[in-house]
Amino acid sequence: MNDETLQYIQQVYGVENWSSGYFDINSKGHIIVRPQRDDPRFVDLKDLVDNLLSERKLQLPLLIRFPQLLAGQLRKLVGAYQSAIQEYGYQGLHYPVYPMKVNPRREVVEEFLKESARYRVGLECGSKAELYAAVAQEQSPDSLMLCNGFKDEAFIETAMLAVRAGKRVTIVVEKLNELKTVVKLAQKHGIAPWIGLRAKLYSRGSGKWASSGGDAAKFGLTTSELLESVRILKDAKLDGQLKLLHFHIGSQITDIKRVKNAMKEGARVYSRLRQLGCPIEFFDIGGGLGVDYDGSQTRFESSVNYTVQEFANGVVYVIQGVCDEENVPHPHIVTESGRFMTAYHTVFITSIRDEIETFAQDQPEVTIDADDPQVITELKELCDTINGKNYAEYYHDALEHKDELHTQFNLGLISLEDRAKGEVLFWEVCARALDESQEESFPDEEFENLKKILAQKYLCNFSLFRSAPDSWAIKQLFPVVPIHRLDEKPQDFATLVDVTCDSDGKIDRFIDLKDVRETLELHDWKDGQDYYLGIFLTGAYQEVMGSHHNLFGNPNEAQVVIDNDGRYHVTKIIAGSRINDMLQFARYDQPQLLESYRKQLRTQIEAGVITKEVAEQLANEFDAGAQRGTYLS
Ligand SMILES: *Cc1c(COP(=O)(O)O)cnc(C)c1O
Repeated sequence: MNDETLQYIQQVYGVENWSSGYFDINSKGHIIVRPQRDDPRFVDLKDLVDNLLSERKLQLPLLIRFPQLLAGQLRKLVGAYQSAIQEYGYQGLHYPVYPMKVNPRREVVEEFLKESARYRVGLECGSKAELYAAVAQEQSPDSLMLCNGFKDEAFIETAMLAVRAGKRVTIVVEKLNELKTVVKLAQKHGIAPWIGLRAKLYSRGSGKWASSGGDAAKFGLTTSELLESVRILKDAKLDGQLKLLHFHIGSQITDIKRVKNAMKEGARVYSRLRQLGCPIEFFDIGGGLGVDYDGSQTRFESSVNYTVQEFANGVVYVIQGVCDEENVPHPHIVTESGRFMTAYHTVFITSIRDEIETFAQDQPEVTIDADDPQVITELKELCDTINGKNYAEYYHDALEHKDELHTQFNLGLISLEDRAKGEVLFWEVCARALDESQEESFPDEEFENLKKILAQKYLCNFSLFRSAPDSWAIKQLFPVVPIHRLDEKPQDFATLVDVTCDSDGKIDRFIDLKDVRETLELHDWKDGQDYYLGIFLTGAYQEVMGSHHNLFGNPNEAQVVIDNDGRYHVTKIIAGSRINDMLQFARYDQPQLLESYRKQLRTQIEAGVITKEVAEQLANEFDAGAQRGTYLS
């Protein structure tokens, strides 16, 4: 591949901007995945997918999980805090905690717990089900188990079970009533977990989740409730258990200034509580550490204007400054940066299955007859003489002619054939005007819109609602890149639609350094060709938030590890949902469905439409069909 092509490809897909060192393009024009930046070992993603499809007989769509990237992100996080702590001479330690709600999958949680002893990795649970999964897991004895979220007695009782198993359980109180329940149960069982208080800060985050912080936040104790909590704990002689202060100002904070402001406020609250005699040792700053999905390093929603090191430096420096000023000890810093820890580790693979016909494509050749109406001959004239100088003017003329065409049709003045001819010519003028506009360095806005209208629409074999729901729900951007043919310049512009029957099931916003692109540059695709697209950075929130819309289920999944010798191993394959699974999800009963189908066949037999043998065969087919996958095969 020549340098110029590579440069062009990098500029189009921005891989090096968002890859964080994990993804790159090799000389074959394939995307590769590395276990960490600058590691000589890599997996060729195209070869891997080919292997999974041919040797392992899997079908697309495919979720590929690279657990080494989880460990890689954890190392980056821990490394950033360690160097900040060293640089500033901070006296507390860093305690990384993984918030399970970001991706509760066993494979993910277990990977982090493997590092529990080395880095004091703990877990944060926000529901009884998450807590249940966490209680049974091995965790290093000095790591934390945080219980957040709204709690009932059963939640707190389960947490007590974890205390009995020797875990450092901290119940983070979100509401005063919760604290009362905790006190009651602690006294009843004679077991006291550690207690944390979640403060409602005045500081707000930035970006999509700004409302997680601020006065109107859903969670946390107001200032007077914090003081009341301290009184309640003192009265119950449990104030010695008050070990942690927590706040969380939202996910994907795009602006580092907001982070520092929140730290200033939080550290001040900590200091004053310390001065009141609360033995708080842990300062839990929640999540918020963002991921640069578009690679622009800006305050844009799908980006962040800082590195993890700058984030950690800001946190450590501000807390230290406030504590030194207030003359209180530096607390241990707890982080719950789930998005940062997980976003990189999965790649979702889909393929183009078909082209959705639009007005603009594959139109028949138009020949002009002597008796054609004037509006058509004029459109034909525009079409034949449009050029680099007149294209904008001709395009505007064509728009007028198209209106005229439809007016005349509605008045009954022209035939259906004329209307068809006129439409074809109109789109032809549009396509040529667009081509001319792309020769300019700064094409006019209206041609950018035209580009979107004229773009190819490709049907891809996946459900957006299952595999990248935030693209739909909150318009989050994910990098979408073909995983092969990157040694050729892409020639087409396209938007993508998924296989659900929902018109929202589409991707028509793509990453860009300065803006949002409305089309994705892709290579020329022909029916029947293999063309694989990767959706990257989907490891945080997407799996758990994805839904069974249209009863499309889980895609097939493969877990891949790269060995020391540089070879990759498929360490686990998890079959995607079968039709049967989705029927169960919607509360159908397969035997009952079969029986009900047989009943209808019996009616057909009685009516003499089919024989018994045919009926038996049909029933068998019906039964066996439920074992198929839910996506296009
Ligand atoms: C959701 C959540 C997190 C995770 O935050 P990210 O910024 O998305 O990593 C951390 N802590 C709490 C309390 C949360 O609710």
